[in-house]
Amino acid sequence: MSHPHPELSAPPELPSGGLRVIPLGGLGEVGRNMTVFEHAGRLLIVDCGVLFPEDHHPGVDLILPDFEPIRARLDDVEALVLTHGHEDHIGATPYLLRERRDIPLVGSELTLALLGSKLREHRLQETVHHQVREGDRISFGPFELEFVAVNHSIPDALAVAIRTAAGLVLHTGDFKMDQLPLDGRITDLRSFARLGEEGVDLFLTDSTNAETPGFTPAETSITPVIDQVFRDSAQRIIVACFASHVHRVQQVLDAAVAHDRKVAYVGRSMVRNMAIARDLGYLRVPPGVIVDLKELAQLAPERQVLISTGSQGEPMSALSRIAQRNHHVVHIAEGDTVLLASSLIPGNENAVYRVINGLARWGARVVHKGNALVHVSGHASAGELLYCYNIVKPRNVLPVHGEIRHMQANAALARLTGVDNVVIAEDGVVVDLVDGVASIVGKVDCGYVFVDGSSVGDITESDLKDRRILGEEGFISIIVVVDSVSGKVSSGPEIHARGNALEGSSFDEIKQPVIDALDRVIAEGTTDSYQLQQTVRRVVGRWVNTTHKRRPMIIPVVIEA
Ligand SMILES: [Zn+2]
Ligand SMILES: [Zn+2]
Repeated sequence: MSHPHPELSAPPELPSGGLRVIPLGGLGEVGRNMTVFEHAGRLLIVDCGVLFPEDHHPGVDLILPDFEPIRARLDDVEALVLTHGHEDHIGATPYLLRERRDIPLVGSELTLALLGSKLREHRLQETVHHQVREGDRISFGPFELEFVAVNHSIPDALAVAIRTAAGLVLHTGDFKMDQLPLDGRITDLRSFARLGEEGVDLFLTDSTNAETPGFTPAETSITPVIDQVFRDSAQRIIVACFASHVHRVQQVLDAAVAHDRKVAYVGRSMVRNMAIARDLGYLRVPPGVIVDLKELAQLAPERQVLISTGSQGEPMSALSRIAQRNHHVVHIAEGDTVLLASSLIPGNENAVYRVINGLARWGARVVHKGNALVHVSGHASAGELLYCYNIVKPRNVLPVHGEIRHMQANAALARLTGVDNVVIAEDGVVVDLVDGVASIVGKVDCGYVFVDGSSVGDITESDLKDRRILGEEGFISIIVVVDSVSGKVSSGPEIHARGNALEGSSFDEIKQPVIDALDRVIAEGTTDSYQLQQTVRRVVGRWVNTTHKRRPMIIPVVIEA
């Protein structure tokens, strides 16, 4: 991974009384948030999320933070605090618990409920949960925690204040400052101010929207737009949003009731999460409005609403399958309306537009962020961040949660308000808070850990490079048998190719040069089969490159018989 501090080496021992911050994910990317705090020989982890793969990670299901820097010290972990239930904050927890089952998990009611269903899917039972709410204080070893309500695109999100002998740290988690949220639960700026009065030594703040000027619009501002979409739709309505966006689903349910439509959830995570949110009282479901998908399909199209996963264009999601017309129940039709009530996470653009085009091809009207105000972000914009800095008046700031450009924009905002010491660190860069001053002291190695099927961490960057070559150029395999007595090619070369339209007779001209090259190196004394294979690879690689302007993967097999 790219690194702004190539000169850094392993950090020195933490001075006694100091606090160390080791970001293992989320600093330099939007995803896999995980920050480790160390004090008095003990560790506290805040968040443990996943990152979703992009086009250059073919075949990868998920990307995890690298636990290696703390693997030998898992027994020192006092607790894992989960700020909210988004996948980029809780999704890697099952993988961490596989390494130590009894790490205490600390979070709000909804966060722990969403995590609980994930842990059951991973067959992780008997985990240790501490449910907390805003205002609660609880200590784990030398870390005294206090929780503060924050408003975000999922209910029940918390910021966490961490008191140690080294000072007071405030970590916002993900937040924004909607003043009239649907659930009335605002970011508790009074507590931010109180902590500021006490003296916040290190403030970790959400950078995601730091480049966006002004204020993130209120959730309620999209209510009239959703209403208009319902009024304009003569046929079925399909709404795609995040499976955790309880408030967006609430708005759609309310619109459905107002327009006399019924609603079915599509997609496993949507069904599961909305059941949890309803059972815990975070989602108010008017009686009779939710039906199952089969029941919904019996109704006239103008009475149907589907709320689906897949707003990021995920290829296996319900919406992608609907767009390709291979969903088992839902067949998109002329006159249907699709509402993508979601943000566009960087890297997902192509996939999302592929889905939009797929839907449009069948005659659906697609309403999305690009053509209507159907989504507002869950993150604080520049104006809100300025307010926070002025209210908290921190001594040191460490921007978190964002790509480098987001963190730099956030740092600039902190400086504008007069914060002297703003530290920009990417994943693995270690920051110590000693005598009230935060500074970079070193780095630890932490890369991407890829999950592919049941394998965790086995797929490496070089495997992905192979996959990209195979995906772009296909392969050529060459099988040659060499007589171990005479040292002459006794059979072959037999050449096969896939994925590059090079077939049969096109290989005739390279067969003799392969035989000649092998005869030559064997005559020079080479007997090692790896060396012989390299010879074949070079001859065929050079030929296919100069003759066909291609660079497929070359797979030589030399058998001695
Ligand atoms: Zn979030
Ligand atoms: Zn997040």
